[in-house]
Amino acid sequence: MDAVPANLRLAVSPGQLLLENAPKEARPAGWARLKVLACGICGTDLHLLHGMKLPIGAAYPIFPGHEVAAEVIEADPGCGPQPGSRVVLHPLLTCGRCQECISGRENHCASGEMLGVHRAGGLAQEMIWRSDRLVPADDLDPQQAALLPDAVATAFHALRRSNLPQGGKLAVIGSGGVGTNILQISRALDPAVTLVAVVNSEGTARRISELGIPVIHGLEGAGRACKADFGEMDAVIDFSGAEAAPNEAIRMLRKGGRLVLGSVRDERVSLATSYTGLMTREIEIVGSYSSTLSDLRAVTELVRSGQLSLAGLVTHIFALEEAEQAFAVLEQRPAGMVRVVVTA
Ligand SMILES: [Zn+2]
Ligand SMILES: [Zn+2]
Repeated sequence: MDAVPANLRLAVSPGQLLLENAPKEARPAGWARLKVLACGICGTDLHLLHGMKLPIGAAYPIFPGHEVAAEVIEADPGCGPQPGSRVVLHPLLTCGRCQECISGRENHCASGEMLGVHRAGGLAQEMIWRSDRLVPADDLDPQQAALLPDAVATAFHALRRSNLPQGGKLAVIGSGGVGTNILQISRALDPAVTLVAVVNSEGTARRISELGIPVIHGLEGAGRACKADFGEMDAVIDFSGAEAAPNEAIRMLRKGGRLVLGSVRDERVSLATSYTGLMTREIEIVGSYSSTLSDLRAVTELVRSGQLSLAGLVTHIFALEEAEQAFAVLEQRPAGMVRVVVTA
């Protein structure tokens, strides 16, 4: 008798990727069984592969994949998207009952579980996910839709955190996938916004310039250059994680302006400004972490309505069987790479 693979999925342990045939997971009530159509991979997946201190409740081997576009193949009748629907998955399972969840800050839910970390993710043929965390995406290209749950929703959340006023001025430092999405979303929401991108590489400069957005090359002196050429910014969002970014950002801001820190950087923040300088200018510094289900709904709607285009952001596509190559490309970051997607 032929052994039919139950469910091909990727298992990650520190330094090791393994494609394995796993039995199908049981589907609890209120959950949907999903056929994965496309799954993006990002720096988080690389950290998992390199071996990182896992959040409480997670253990190796990890079954990664938190940027998922899928088709529903089983669901409870009347509960969320039904079989045949295409969806994107919000990557956080929240409790829905704690103070954070109730007050709209579900990204801080203390008992939240992360798809592709605590729970088996989308680098698989099939998976299960709670129906209330699915967002309909029927008319979207799955490979582009797979960008929505992480790179695009995170960008939207950071933009919300910036409190950018209508017709305001925004500088974005670091214009990879998330940074590019911030620029595009802010313009989609408000065509009168003034945008500036601080970029590192020639390739990124060209890509951002083609969107009609002015660029400043290199972080050194970017604060002064930005002020001289574009005036003071209402907000600056950093997704570069570069050491000098907060300093340069603060030089760009107007009084009462807001700096949003969205990158991952374990070192201390050093600011070459005085306490009094921050106080008298009433500078605000805030963090932006992940996204909420409502952020994912909002960006999905922006793409469905044609206000936001994700064209050109998926630069590398691999089959699930080629997962090792996909991770290698992500590691090497070849020129022109923006997002890497795996199709099941
Ligand atoms: Zn990601
Ligand atoms: Zn909660």
